[in-house]
Amino acid sequence: MIARVSLEIALRKEFDYAIPPELADRVDVGSRVQVPFGPRKVLGVVTAVAEESAQARLKPILKIIGAQTLVTARVLKLARWMADYYCCAPEIALKSILPEAVRKEAASWRERLFVTALPVQDDFPKLPKRQLEVWNIVEERREISLSELVELAETTAATVRKLEDRGLVRVAPQITERDPYANEQILPSQPLVLNAAQAKALAAVTTAMDAKQGDRALKSGTFLLHGVTGSGKTEVYLQAIATALAQGKGAIVLVPEISLTPQTVERFKSRFSHGSNHTLVAVLHSHLSAGERHDEWHKIRQGRARIVIGARSAIFAPVEPLGLIVVDEEHEHTYKQEEAPRYNARDVAIMRGQMEGAAVVLGSATPSLESYHNCQRGKFTLLELPERVDNQKMPYVRVVDMRQAARGGKGPPTFSPQLKEAITQRLEKGEQTILFLNRRGYSTALECTQCGFVATCPNCSLSLTYHRPEQKLRCHVCNHIEPVPAACPKCKNPQIRYSGLGTQKVEDTLNKLFPQARVQRMDSDLLKRKEDYRRILGDFRTGKIDILVGTQMIAKGLHFPNVTLVGIIYADMALHQPDFRAGERTFQLLTQVAGRAGRGEVEGEVFVQAFTPFHPAIQYARRHDFIGFYEQEIEFRKQLNYPPFSRVALLTLRGHNEDKVKFSAEHVRKELDKLSTENNPEPLSLALSPSAGERVAEGRVRGAFKDLNIAGPAPAPLLRAENYYRYQLMLRTTQMSKLSLALAELVNRLELPEGVTLTVDIDPTGLS
Ligand SMILES: [Zn+2]
Ligand SMILES: [Zn+2]
Repeated sequence: MIARVSLEIALRKEFDYAIPPELADRVDVGSRVQVPFGPRKVLGVVTAVAEESAQARLKPILKIIGAQTLVTARVLKLARWMADYYCCAPEIALKSILPEAVRKEAASWRERLFVTALPVQDDFPKLPKRQLEVWNIVEERREISLSELVELAETTAATVRKLEDRGLVRVAPQITERDPYANEQILPSQPLVLNAAQAKALAAVTTAMDAKQGDRALKSGTFLLHGVTGSGKTEVYLQAIATALAQGKGAIVLVPEISLTPQTVERFKSRFSHGSNHTLVAVLHSHLSAGERHDEWHKIRQGRARIVIGARSAIFAPVEPLGLIVVDEEHEHTYKQEEAPRYNARDVAIMRGQMEGAAVVLGSATPSLESYHNCQRGKFTLLELPERVDNQKMPYVRVVDMRQAARGGKGPPTFSPQLKEAITQRLEKGEQTILFLNRRGYSTALECTQCGFVATCPNCSLSLTYHRPEQKLRCHVCNHIEPVPAACPKCKNPQIRYSGLGTQKVEDTLNKLFPQARVQRMDSDLLKRKEDYRRILGDFRTGKIDILVGTQMIAKGLHFPNVTLVGIIYADMALHQPDFRAGERTFQLLTQVAGRAGRGEVEGEVFVQAFTPFHPAIQYARRHDFIGFYEQEIEFRKQLNYPPFSRVALLTLRGHNEDKVKFSAEHVRKELDKLSTENNPEPLSLALSPSAGERVAEGRVRGAFKDLNIAGPAPAPLLRAENYYRYQLMLRTTQMSKLSLALAELVNRLELPEGVTLTVDIDPTGLS
């Protein structure tokens, strides 16, 4: 027997190895193995097992990692689709589906030595005092870890071993599981009574889950649950998961990393994971230690954990059989991975749901245009929760024209008179305020008033941000740090102006305006550890903070009943970026931040400060009108043939030498132009196309693309980043699966000059 192995090095090729007789009954598709490769030993995954190979004289597999096959056949299939669609080497895709803690040979269960009392024979020996004390503890506890016993009895391991020699105890290694939530007190929760809209949504999802694979109902197995903030989406998820469990299936719940707070996890654990079922919910996120991640993952693989909550990569969790996938806040850009494989976990979820016959629920208060459009054309089923569960009103939103506030003064103020007045009122009433600005630091540019010099990063085409607490200038792209100059480095003028606004300056201004207020800033400069995040939120909840100032970190999922005012300092900041999604992003962000106000008894109020107050993204957000925003935005996308009317592939060339990069980009353009012509030489086999819901038959397709639009090369919006020059080409087509394969083929044969690299990003979420 031979095994075909995909190695952990990106060669876009698989290799055959002989299966030695002693491993014959343990090697299977999905096994992780160690094999010889040249002089090295390399890890890989078995992708097929066969009788014989075309190759002669095969080297043998050296060993198997793990007791079980680590990659299930279904997840293997998903990885293969991902490699095809996202145009990356299959080895890279395969690698990304297993957490590093599982892939590595060294990682394993933690074993500790345990001391167990053995049945006492007739004549109990007379023991020295020390040994007797130790024995008494062991007898009482029946079983205790050696380290705990040594500590408790104030003794040494040697003394314990003496008891072992006398046949009174056994000392042996046992597995102890690392449970990141071991110290949390989880109180069971009961299903809540659903309102009519929630009940209708749940019924639609469970009907699809009842359908057997291949049933017609499954074709519409993807749902978009559009519900305003506070409309009770999570309760629908929880009850749908209960249905999956009742059917003997499991569920995966994806949550953006930033929303994966202890409170979120607790809601799922309280419903399903307590008492004898405490392993039922597994959590996968980046804050786990390698050991914890290993244990959580294996609990899933062994079927002891049936519900997985996690960020992006949890979509590859080996839940089997899978009944339901939930993607909460499906519009979030953090579902997209920014390095190879550049997948979007939401789209992978839809594909996995189709492959495994699982229902997929995408939830959002501000759905992506792509998902809502898919509902409009019947590919997804739209489910709506139009009201807040507690019948609270949506907060009242006022837009403040900052052009007026800026008139007459020296530049725009941080706070308009209206917002200042509103904050004063809250402080008087003892209510809380959240202020939002999506920019860290103190000021975003340091400018000479005489010669116009601006301090820029030596590695990036970007101005440096002034950080006041440490008196440093920092680059937010490459993290370059330099001291603040005392005078202009060019003309020696000591008058240097700080312009542009960051959270530190907002905090500073607040302290001056409201010296009596307790102000706390919350952004990634301040929060180095997750305890800080918990502590600040705890202080805010218990009323020890009056005003919380922060970046997008405070935009999501936080419920504070005493917050009656939300201020958005600079709403149109993201609007001026060169990205066709700028309007959509602004609308989503404003809606989310506004949703933080009025989650308690008192109605909330939101002040949106803007320099372009009549921009549609701001006006529709003010009226809480998603449909209105969708209709005008979709028209704009249609006219310019942007997604969802086409799909985008972004090709970026980068290197230290700008001329070489530019020249290479022009060469790539010529190669791409050939794809548009009739004589496209390479036969293509089509893969599945995601979120479109249709299966395209595998086949040999020859010829040109119907609708390939190529733009560029052009310098990237940020031409230079971390000392690399970047040029981009943007491709648009409706036949993305076909284009991905053509691009993979192109990448393989393309010869780029030394020092220039090309990356392909399918369905990019941003241009940068
Ligand atoms: Zn100067
Ligand atoms: Zn930089």
